[in-house]
Amino acid sequence: APARLPVALLGREYDIMVGEDLLPRAGGLMAGALPARRVAIISDAAVADLHLPALRAGLQQAGFEIRATLAIPPGEGSKSLANFGRVLEELLAAGIDRNTGVVALGGGVVGDLAGFVAASALRGLPFVQVPTTLLAQVDSSVGGKTGINLASGKNLAGAFWQPRMVLADTGVLATLPPRELRAGYAEVAKHGLLQGPLWSWCEAEGSRAAAGDPLALRHAVLESCRLKSAVVASDEREESAEGGRALLNLGHTFGHAVEAECGYDGSLLHGEAVALGLYLAARLSARLGFCEAGLPDRVEAHLRAVGLPARLAELPRRFPVERLMARMRKDKKVRDGRMRFVLLRGPGEPFTWSDVAPEDAEALLRE
Ligand code: NAD
Ligand code: ZN
Repeated sequence: APARLPVALLGREYDIMVGEDLLPRAGGLMAGALPARRVAIISDAAVADLHLPALRAGLQQAGFEIRATLAIPPGEGSKSLANFGRVLEELLAAGIDRNTGVVALGGGVVGDLAGFVAASALRGLPFVQVPTTLLAQVDSSVGGKTGINLASGKNLAGAFWQPRMVLADTGVLATLPPRELRAGYAEVAKHGLLQGPLWSWCEAEGSRAAAGDPLALRHAVLESCRLKSAVVASDEREESAEGGRALLNLGHTFGHAVEAECGYDGSLLHGEAVALGLYLAARLSARLGFCEAGLPDRVEAHLRAVGLPARLAELPRRFPVERLMARMRKDKKVRDGRMRFVLLRGPGEPFTWSDVAPEDAEALLRE
């Protein structure tokens, strides 16, 4: 049976369902969460080829009418203003009304775009997330952030829009390329370090999840969603600079810098950049005397065990330290020349620290 995690966010209560064979049962599961048995499905072409038939059958079996099925091209480039407009127009042309549910079947790109479409069409339609990447199941489908990229930058237009349900079918992860699965696992390791006991589980069992073991994946997804939804509930609209959602940026100040330096060309996946950032955050925490000296080694050993990079020197390409530092300074987390990072006193004890001397971060990058 699927696990049911009830969450209450931004005034809405809904369930995150986690299980292995949910698509064929999607209609029965969604029926109570949506106002009518009418949906439009938004997916990407690759995911639609693999998983749309099962979702469609699952919905029709429960008497759902599928008003439209739209597939955008796979890839970050599809999270665009042009696609946002195109999908809105196609939904309206298909005759959707205010009770038509928008179902996002795909990774974070589809979830972010479809969520923003659902928030905007007719001033807001009921929305269901069916995340199909590990990253989307443990991270992007939880928390209610939706949006698109603009020419000015990533995720610069969007809305907070909570789904009526999240259906995380871990069975669909079997078709995910292994490298995508491992990269998504980096966010599980991040949640582990934020949560504590989940980190111990990661060290013991995480490599099974990162290798695709269904039972381990189910635990990883469920516990990640539990942690992320609790953090988000404490700071729904990201208003706290110190605690709350800011803690979810563990590993991301540095991760974003390396990612940007690669120009989002696919040579380094987001999760791989986060893995590098987690190790750096542990190193920085130890260097500044906040955590025991052995924590960085534990983080490195674990990342290595699951097939993720920990040290910059492992990557085939070299990154000029000055450029990475410049990117981190631009990451809006600098005050009076001191940098802000999420650091750890230990697993389960994260905090934001706004007083990191640039020389300390730089020294670690030079090693
Ligand atoms: P993605 O949606 O681009 O999916 C990655 C690739 O995997 C795509 O090519 C896709 O076609 C393919 N794929 C998806 N599911 C598959 C499956 N089951 N089998 C085979 N192939 C499959 O990328 P992603 O990593 O899922 O998401 C990244 C996006 O998420 C970014 O745009 C990022 O900004 C966003 N994000 C949003 C939040 C949030 O809170 N809203 C949080 C983190 C990330
Ligand atoms: Zn991330």
